[in-house]
Amino acid sequence: MKRDTLCIHGHKHESYGTGAITPPIFQSSTFARVGVGEATDHIYSRIQNPTRDAAEKTIAALEGANEGFAFSSGMAAISTVMELFASGDHVIATEDLYGGAIRLFTNQKHGLEFTYVDTGDVNAVKTAIKPNTKAIYLETPTNPLIHVTDIAAIRAAVPKSFIIIVDNTFLTPYLQNPLEHGADIVVHSGTKYLSGHSDALAGFAVANCPKICEELRTNHKSIGACLSPFESFLVVRGIKTLALRMDRIESNTLAIANWLRTHPKIKSVNYAGFPSHPSYEISKKQARGFGGMLSFETDTKETAHALLTNVKIVTYAESLGCVNSLITIPATCTHEDVPIDVRNARGITDKLVRFSVGIENPQDIIDDLAQAMA
Ligand SMILES: *Cc1c(COP(=O)(O)O)cnc(C)c1O
Repeated sequence: MKRDTLCIHGHKHESYGTGAITPPIFQSSTFARVGVGEATDHIYSRIQNPTRDAAEKTIAALEGANEGFAFSSGMAAISTVMELFASGDHVIATEDLYGGAIRLFTNQKHGLEFTYVDTGDVNAVKTAIKPNTKAIYLETPTNPLIHVTDIAAIRAAVPKSFIIIVDNTFLTPYLQNPLEHGADIVVHSGTKYLSGHSDALAGFAVANCPKICEELRTNHKSIGACLSPFESFLVVRGIKTLALRMDRIESNTLAIANWLRTHPKIKSVNYAGFPSHPSYEISKKQARGFGGMLSFETDTKETAHALLTNVKIVTYAESLGCVNSLITIPATCTHEDVPIDVRNARGITDKLVRFSVGIENPQDIIDDLAQAMA
């Protein structure tokens, strides 16, 4: 099956002879045993739940993975994956990482060591390797600067024993499948494009290697940050329209990026879909699209503030990847915890605006941005 079909048919579920085409919400924490020491496939909902099974099978099918695990949030997925590592282990991570991941890595008290580098530069990754390096943690493309990492090039440059983890939230499995390029684990915030409607928090981790899957399965049920039956239902429902939404978001984003480029108050636009973007060729090689995230620098701080204050259709809010267009200034929200000199050095200034393109009519979005900056 092709990926757009898998969005709808990536799982099989029990319908109790009714033919229900949607997985029922199994709102049950426990399941009756069938005999002494015998059970159905389900024992207790922290371990497995039939509605969550549907979500996990769908994400595994979409990512081409042997197993998928559904978590109560993207951060729950990332935290659980990081339990694979022990005190003294060293991890090399993308420097332009999601703020919540940086906060988790910085505050952990498990004795893990992190080095942040521009993972778009394979030599920078190689140089950062230490005798205790165990993993490479990548986000590609990044937020908010849209830096791209060549996953296959990293795989080829580091020892086979290194576990490569990729946060694939931004492009979704419809547009990018990191396991195909040599990643070992893919994590997602299902809160974003996968559920797609800003109505659920969810997270996923998928893997192929049986040993990694077994460890993830143990950590998933032991830590217990697993996705509830109702949220599982919402994500399965959201994923059914993932392909349609991403296609529309792709075309909207290109139209908006092109329009922003011509606006006199916009200095520069970061969008990997411009052939002039330094990562255009890598993006074309490892992904089937450029996604719906872009960022741009305004002429003044006042223009950036006017945009956030005056938009009427677009919403000034955190988060991304939903049917609504969302706008924010990373320096004052998602990246507030990053020291100001580090932020400025990386270009995350108070004039940098991040835009998560929704599925509204593109002309309405453009007209809204235009009136907000007038
Ligand atoms: C939102 C996000 C996360 C965290 O996911 P939650 O569902 O909010 O816990 C992780 N990575 C990226 C890239 C994100 O955008």
